[in-house]
Order: sequence, then structure tokens, then C-alpha cells
Amino acid sequence: MVSEKMLELGRRRSVIRELFEYGRTRRAEIGEDRVFDFSLGNPSVPAPAVVGDTLAALLRETDPALLHGYTSAQGDARVREAIAAYVRQTYRAPADADRIYLTAGAAAALSIALRALLPDGGGDEVIAIAPYFPEYRVFTENAGGRLVPVPARAGDFGIDIPGLLAAVTPRTRAVIINSPNNPTGAVLSVSDAAALGEALRSASERVGHPIYLLADEPYRELVYDGVTVPWLPLYYENTLVLYSFSKSLSLPGERIGYVLVHPDAAAAEEVYAAILGAGRSLGYVCAPALFQYMIPACLGKTSDLQVYRENRDRLYTALTRYGYDCVRPEGAFYLFVRALEPDAVAFSERAKKRELLLVPSDDFGYPGYVRIAYCVSPQMVERALPAFCALAEDYRKGS
Ligand code: PLP
Repeated sequence: MVSEKMLELGRRRSVIRELFEYGRTRRAEIGEDRVFDFSLGNPSVPAPAVVGDTLAALLRETDPALLHGYTSAQGDARVREAIAAYVRQTYRAPADADRIYLTAGAAAALSIALRALLPDGGGDEVIAIAPYFPEYRVFTENAGGRLVPVPARAGDFGIDIPGLLAAVTPRTRAVIINSPNNPTGAVLSVSDAAALGEALRSASERVGHPIYLLADEPYRELVYDGVTVPWLPLYYENTLVLYSFSKSLSLPGERIGYVLVHPDAAAAEEVYAAILGAGRSLGYVCAPALFQYMIPACLGKTSDLQVYRENRDRLYTALTRYGYDCVRPEGAFYLFVRALEPDAVAFSERAKKRELLLVPSDDFGYPGYVRIAYCVSPQMVERALPAFCALAEDYRKGS
């Protein structure tokens, strides 16, 4: 006998992974250049040189026993101090090294924060704006909670504040916001951030306990056209920022990120201690040490994001010309496109016939769309355009 829940999770692979595996098989069958795989959010540009240079210097100059040893559970003190100083300087916002906890990426940050915030009895609620990253449901349920989706505002995928307020109940403990967004590419505006802060303050008062805001920010630096991403702790004190270096530095396999608790959050000391407890109970021990030590030299640095911007422009312009309906993404590396038939799964299957691998939106809690991850080579985008055009044509002709 094994856990039914875990068995189901293990057996029912995510749709994204499923498509990615299909792509691998298909490429072996018909050739690398003939499959247009837009399934996975795996950065396609290399890490910036500062990453390799820093790692090489660390390997050359640091005592291996330290470099590869355990760090303290919350992460190396000097690394946490460097992050806190960076946040204070960059966002003109309070940050305290003793309220920062280093993690194995944003996924660990999310699962640890949810485990820490949700009371032990189970049945508490976490609100997410749909469409949402599918793992929110997995992590929330694993922490004993229930995910409550609130559809994004129609038209621009912003936050529907009245809808959000209507979903708050006395069991609501947290709200997850992801900006820049996977899968829509939407970036929360400053006015929405301010309205969200106000709304959560009044909702917390109404239910009689703090509702924590989890700002899931692996795409913080991936924005185009000079768009700024509001630092949510400036708008709402009960905020935990869940950051990751996976996308900004193209290091998703290295598993490094952090949780930052606003120093003035309600019960901040308790929340931080519970985060340590959650990390411990989930067996994380400490975040990967070598990549912790890499952080101070790489704060604020990014991979070359130019390719993503070019891909976005090329795809958005071409797809809208072919008759697809999508909102122009301001950040991340995803385009969220309305399926050309009501059933996105059927549409994704149809796209496969044109060798286009597009993720149906059902698992994101928002049916009727597909997600295009454009963190791919510009050459692949170029090769894929005729297939997108032909797919739209198939539907127009009703063939
Ligand atoms: N949150 C969102 C919205 C994501 O898209 C991802 C990864 O794609 C993650 C969290 C997890 O990222 P990490 O690699 O930092 O665990």
C-alpha cells in the first residue's frame, strides 16, 4: 500500500511534462527541426557570464569543506545579508536578513510558505488568480489546504478585486499572486497592487486574522518595454516574496531561490520560525550551498533577455495577423492564446497534427486557451509560423 494521493500525483504526469515527453519522441521520429515544441518554461538563453565566472572563482578560492558543506537551515548569513541590502536599495523597501530563508527555487519556497501558513487542522483556503501555475494546487493540498480560484479580470488578465473579495471567507489564509504571470505574461500594474493591498487589509479586518499575500516572482526581471513590476511588500505589509533565480539567470536545474518575509508582517517572527519548521519537516535541510554563495555577485544580473522580447514580438504580431486572439504579454515568456474551438485539449491535439506543441489551459484553471512558451530559439519561432498559419486556416475551412 502506498499513499493514494501521492500515487495519483506520480501517475498523472502534468500535461506540460506529458507534451514535453511527446515532443522528445516526435523529434526522434521526424527530426529536430520539424517539431515546434512550445511546451516547457525552460530558459533557452545561457546563464550570463557572471554565473560561470563566480562559480569558477568559488571553486578555485574557497575551502571545499565550506563550499560543499551544509549551511545553516535558513541559508548562509552573509548571502542573506546581501539579498536584504539589495532589496533595500533596489526597491527602497525594508528587508531583514533574519526574515530571509534560502530555498531550492520558487517551488520549494511556495511549498514551504504554504505549509508554514496553513493551520494544522486542514481545510483552510488559499486564493489563486486563474489562470494559475498548476503546482499551486498540488502544494496547497499537500499543506492540507484547499485552492480557491478567482478568475482574472476579463480583457487584460489583471486582478478582479471585487471577485477576489467575494471569495474571501473566514478560512482564507493566503492569496497567491504571480506577476509577471505564467501563463498570461500579464504584469500587475501599480494601481492594481495598491488596490490589492487595500482589499487585503479590509478583508483581513473582516475575517479577524491576517490574510498573507504570497508574491510568487520567478519572472520579476523578465519584462519588456520598460514595464516595472511593483514590489508588493510596499503595498501590503503581510507579504511574503517567493523569489527564484531559475528564469532570470537561466538556472532552473540548480534549484535556488528564497522566501522573504516583510519585517513588519503580522507575527513576522512566528511566520519566519514556522518557515524554518516547514523547511525542516519537508526535509529541505538547506538550499544548495554552492549556488547560495553564487548569489551576492549575481543579484540584479540577468541572462540576455533580448531573444525573448524578439520572440514575443514576432509571435504576437504574426498570430494576431493569422486571426488568433491573445493579450500582448508584458513579461515572462508565455503567450496565452484563445483556442480556435471551445475545448482547448481538442485544439492542442489538433495543433499536434501540425507538429505544434501547445499546452491546453485546463490545468491552469481557465479552460479554452493554450499556452505558448516562447523561451525557444528565434529560428524555431520562424519555422513554426507557417504551421500556426495553416492551423488557423484548417479551422477557417472547417477541415
Ligand atoms: N512559479 C511559477 C509561476 C512558475 O512558472 C515556476 C516555474 O516554472 C515556479 C513557480 C517554480 O520555479 P522554480 O524553478 O524556481 O522552482
